Amino acid sequence: MANKCLSASSNCKPKDFIDFGLFPVANFPTDQKIFNKYIKKNNFIKKKRLKLKICSKCKYLKLENKVNSRILDNIYEKFYKYPSAMLSQIVPTRDDLFLEKLFKNVNFRRVKSVLEIGCYDGYILHKIKQKFPKIIVSGCEPSQGANIAKKFNLNVKKKFFNDKTFKNQKFDLVILRHTLEHIQNIKKILTDIKKSMNENSYFAVEVPNVNFYLQKGLLEVFSFQHIHYFSSKSFDVISKDHNFSIFKNFETPENLIFFLKKKHDYKKKKSSNFVKLYSNKFLSKIKENTLKIKKYISKYNSDEIVLWGAGGFAIAAICLYKIPITPKTLIFDKDQSKHGLTLLDTRSKIMKIDNKLLKNRKLIIITSYYSSQILKEIKKIHKRIDVMQIFPKIKLIKI
Ligand SMILES: [Zn+2]
Repeated sequence: MANKCLSASSNCKPKDFIDFGLFPVANFPTDQKIFNKYIKKNNFIKKKRLKLKICSKCKYLKLENKVNSRILDNIYEKFYKYPSAMLSQIVPTRDDLFLEKLFKNVNFRRVKSVLEIGCYDGYILHKIKQKFPKIIVSGCEPSQGANIAKKFNLNVKKKFFNDKTFKNQKFDLVILRHTLEHIQNIKKILTDIKKSMNENSYFAVEVPNVNFYLQKGLLEVFSFQHIHYFSSKSFDVISKDHNFSIFKNFETPENLIFFLKKKHDYKKKKSSNFVKLYSNKFLSKIKENTLKIKKYISKYNSDEIVLWGAGGFAIAAICLYKIPITPKTLIFDKDQSKHGLTLLDTRSKIMKIDNKLLKNRKLIIITSYYSSQILKEIKKIHKRIDVMQIFPKIKLIKI
């Protein structure tokens, strides 16, 4: 049985925090016909109430009514696509920032082997290998991403990680990025990870920083895929419970990067002084942001609006920020594999970026974390158009 809260030791009682209402189980583009058939055949549900609880002790939010993980894994395995940095489908700014911190803070003279759990297309492993060719890198990834990694000759197993995946092997560095927040049983995965670490191994973790979203009233992080929402303080709790020591930590600011080591001595270390959870004003901030968006877009008709970015962010824009879309709303994405698919039950198909289609359009809404990259691409079009960005701050830009 999984714990009631993050902490295994303290007896905390997470409280109701927010109810976003019905939200899609699959927050990515799909071929509606095939997807609906699959859902029906398997008796799955398409939407569920997205509700979160908060724990003031663990400084952490938790998904309340989870989707059965077997169902979620099935849907993901069958339908989910993510752009690949190895195939140059995205500029991996988030991954490069992680690599910068990794190379600066980890002593690679002591690292002979690396394991990345949830390595997707193997971009991080590839970069480590490029810099240190003698290091043996291994990975583990259940999605299609594993096939991409294999094409680049990376040793990546296409499966979910557990203590049997790399049985009897120890790694000097274990990496877990944007994965821990998806895993139901944190205790189990951390126990399994520890088994694959040496006494002096590093354990590098990256997760979204819930405090960033709470402080700014931003909603794109929330979905059924994310069961846990951590703050820096939550890693204090995790470290204490699972006997890790925090070696280095960073807020990027929208993500948390933690470098942990196994704790050997129980010498009293100065306890980390992490900030509180910015949860007090969250509801009023959301209201403020939603009103701001509503005010901005009220000046345009739906056939004048373009959404640029057709992933989970766009789903959050529609379902959580309540940006109305109609069959006339144009949806652009750079990723070829999304073209012709749709978001939710809308009839508006995702299109390839095409300047001609922008002719009568007056507002582009950037529904992506990569606002500055997309803004550059829009500027290259040389067209007078208004742009609304949501991340990291909601604002209207006239071009
Ligand atoms: Zn708690």
